[in-house]
Amino acid sequence: MMATDIERLLAFDRQHLWHPYASMTQPPPANLVASALGTRIRLQDGTELIDAVSSWWCMVHGHNPPAVIAAIQEQAAQFAQVMFAGFTHRPAIELAEALLAVCPPSLNRVFYADTGSIAVECALKMAAQYQVAKGRPKRCRMATIRGGYHGDTTGAMAVSEPAGMHEIFHGIMVQHLFAPQPHCEFDQPWRDDDFAPMAELLRKHRDELAAVIVEPIFQGGNAMRFYHPEYLRQLRELCSELDILLILDEIATGFGRTGKFFAQEHAGIVPDIMCVSKALTGGTIALSAVLCSGEVADGISSGTPGQFMHGPTYMASPLACAAGCAALRLFKSYDWAANVRAMDVQLRRELAPCRELANVKAVRVLGATGVLELAKLPSYERVQEVVMATGVWIRPFDHWLYTMPPFITTPAEISRITAAMRMAAE
Ligand code: PMP
Repeated sequence: MMATDIERLLAFDRQHLWHPYASMTQPPPANLVASALGTRIRLQDGTELIDAVSSWWCMVHGHNPPAVIAAIQEQAAQFAQVMFAGFTHRPAIELAEALLAVCPPSLNRVFYADTGSIAVECALKMAAQYQVAKGRPKRCRMATIRGGYHGDTTGAMAVSEPAGMHEIFHGIMVQHLFAPQPHCEFDQPWRDDDFAPMAELLRKHRDELAAVIVEPIFQGGNAMRFYHPEYLRQLRELCSELDILLILDEIATGFGRTGKFFAQEHAGIVPDIMCVSKALTGGTIALSAVLCSGEVADGISSGTPGQFMHGPTYMASPLACAAGCAALRLFKSYDWAANVRAMDVQLRRELAPCRELANVKAVRVLGATGVLELAKLPSYERVQEVVMATGVWIRPFDHWLYTMPPFITTPAEISRITAAMRMAAE
């Protein structure tokens, strides 16, 4: 593409396109992408960048895995889309079969949606409708922990950190119940008092509560922090005792990111409802799924009106489900778990020295995720400078400079990523 074409496109973009979490009048720099393959994103001007954030945590197998792209193309040649009311299709069925094979056996009912946020909305609605069906309509509130992130739609925002990025929308959100953020970090010793505030909250409000929703182990978008598995074990136990449903949002953590296939496996627990998205299609195309137990599905179906009242237009998109089938198969084609273990070791080793930097308040690593918590975030301009100087795509936000690379990233590439992070943190 000619330099003048690139300039024209970028000028139009600046003028008319709203980017995520951005100003329309003072837009941050945007890079024009030409292609992407494996760990690399190529820009129109020929620059090649290592994608250190897996394009918002999705591309676990790297960009454009050929088998996934071929599956989308094959499906597109048959039919691209069909409504899921009154119809079903092989990609939806085979993806559900593949999901059931990797999910806890009790989660064997699958509701497809299109994005992570909508999966969360569906999960919250399932919990609420279940309680209505059980004759307990007053149980319509949710409990969660501070520092959570579950998406940007209104229902999902209402169970996310209230003082964070969504504070401005306080007036339009349902008021749910929040326990403090767990104190004990993943690899610190456990202290029983860490769970006490949540236990108190749940016991006090049990008659109002439909469900508890949390991100298991790794609180992402609003905390970038790993908490202790014992917290989840105690949460599971108490939810069962009080007959409150437990929803786990595995949208960011699912499919290997923390070293286990699902983060809940660190605690050895199983929720009643689970949300997955992002890496479900290898990050190639939007899709999410909510899995629930027979107890939840039968409860909803035996109540009034007997149907689960949700049905997105692009539910079970055939293209996305075909991508999902191929992406799940890819986990069997290489030793992703060994790669993630090796990344964990390398990220710890290479990020640990950043603790000496005045701007770095904490260094955290688990699986294929490395986080530097900063006193002050570098400006967009500074980040862009570092990106161009190092050829590594990083995208810090709030107080965090992090990497969540594709599982196929090589040790040499990881070293380039950690060097870029260090440069941006200085
Ligand atoms: N839940 C979690 C844990 C997430 O990390 C995200 C996205 N970062 C979402 C929900 C929302 O997903 P989406 O952006 O696809 O709506």
